[in-house]
Amino acid sequence: MHGSLSNAEIADRLASLAQLLSTQKENPYKIKAYQRAAVKVRTISESIEELVRDESDLTEYAGIGEAISAAIREIVRTGTLGKLEKLRSEATPELASISAYPRLDPKRVLRIYNKLKIASVEALREELESGAIEKAFGLRMAQHIRQGLTENHAMLLYRADDLRLAIEDFLLGKCRVRRAEVAGDYRRRVEVIEEMVFIVETDEFPSVIATLQRYGGRTPLVHASKESARFALSSGIQLVVHFASRALSGHSLIACTGSQAHLKKLSAVTGSLKALKEQASFPTENDLYRRFGLDFIEPELREGHDEVQRAAQGALPSLVAVSDIRGELHAHSISSDGSNSIEQMAAAARERGYEYTGITDHSQSLKIARGVSVDDLWKQIRFIDRLNERLNGIRVLKSAEVDILADGSLDYPDELLRELDYTVCSIHSRFALDKGKQTDRILRAMDNRHFKILGHATGRLLLKRPGYELNIERIIAHAKQNGCFFEINSSPDRLDLSAENARLARSAGVKIAISTDAHSTREFGLIRYGIGQARRAALESSDVLNCLPWEKLRSLFKR
Ligand SMILES: [Zn+2]
Ligand SMILES: [Zn+2]
Repeated sequence: MHGSLSNAEIADRLASLAQLLSTQKENPYKIKAYQRAAVKVRTISESIEELVRDESDLTEYAGIGEAISAAIREIVRTGTLGKLEKLRSEATPELASISAYPRLDPKRVLRIYNKLKIASVEALREELESGAIEKAFGLRMAQHIRQGLTENHAMLLYRADDLRLAIEDFLLGKCRVRRAEVAGDYRRRVEVIEEMVFIVETDEFPSVIATLQRYGGRTPLVHASKESARFALSSGIQLVVHFASRALSGHSLIACTGSQAHLKKLSAVTGSLKALKEQASFPTENDLYRRFGLDFIEPELREGHDEVQRAAQGALPSLVAVSDIRGELHAHSISSDGSNSIEQMAAAARERGYEYTGITDHSQSLKIARGVSVDDLWKQIRFIDRLNERLNGIRVLKSAEVDILADGSLDYPDELLRELDYTVCSIHSRFALDKGKQTDRILRAMDNRHFKILGHATGRLLLKRPGYELNIERIIAHAKQNGCFFEINSSPDRLDLSAENARLARSAGVKIAISTDAHSTREFGLIRYGIGQARRAALESSDVLNCLPWEKLRSLFKR
């Protein structure tokens, strides 16, 4: 057996193999499978090396099939993979050096090497910083290179969900703590997480710290004190574990959940939180809030806006919940780039207890997403009419995700748009227009009376690219005036509107759809991420379009 390998080191080898395979004429599904397995391996809490030694069945983990399981066993046995070493030995020096950065796409990097006449990762870094890569290849390429070269210290909330379960199990099972509760940004449902925070109740905190260093095979301790410890997880983010006695659990949970802005406003009412610790016991959060005449404040609201003041007045909003949602307003079928038929999407929506689902396939100009031609959308409209006649308990709404073209016009003629129950209108091109032009483009689109909902307003892709620049206040005011609406797109890498922008829209009295942008029946489940974002924006069900029954919604869509 080779010397001890952490899960992170095993994942790196799988990722490097995927990367080198991508330079060969290899089956793209196989490459994806290795990439996915690398991601999965980083979230497993048990030591994979120990699992292999105990001859456990690795294929029980989602995303690990026979071939990958065999590869992992080989890595544990020999420290590497025959196939990886062979590819490395055959690779050019350029490729071999790129393979130290498994998140870089070697084909793209080699294109840059060729054009800019460079041959090393150091030179690549210099060209990135000087702006030469962006100039020659565009913003997206520059962002890919930047991402590949920097270590990732952040994680999407939805990936953190798996991690949270794994850590919780490990704390309760292997560390034998009596109680483990997640706190921090994760608990407030912040869309990108940089650390995972737990409070634990235990008699033996030092032994918890020792055991945690064996999480995922090996997890380095960054810092420890009598009451807290910080670890560097292989997924790039940090794990913080705080000790809390039962009597102070509620106090610790509030302190560790944050945000800093909330705690500042809270301590203006309660006095120093630290001093409180000495004076009384607070087994639950409510014990603390109530003692100062405050209602319980939902974690998503703890952002330091007006929540403490409203809690004192008994005037906190009653936040929207998944169970308030009556239908879906943004979903794709196989007519464009979705993976299920309209009937399958309808059946899945009914299974969720929805009353309706819109089908919003892409419009004709969006060729990369198999946009639907004018003729085909006419056919789809007639098809849905017939379908609704035989469906029970669910209504399919005729719609489209209509591209907002560069000049602000919509991507279908008015006489076709008129036949739809509503539209979602989105930008999918020309992200680089300046702030004024991009804003005007949307304002002009909203002047079309068939414009209903603005899809993913800023186009941001979390951890990949910032949104395009917009004057969001002007767009909100225009939406209000024209009877247009926004969406919170629940796709975990979008969550667009942001909580801040959703808060602005709500204050202006503009209703918001909480949509999943589902490209398969499974993705209807992403709704909870959009709900989390809506709750952070203090949205109540009365602020949300798809909390309305279709008849009410239909009258709102008339303009
Ligand atoms: Zn879209
Ligand atoms: Zn979409």
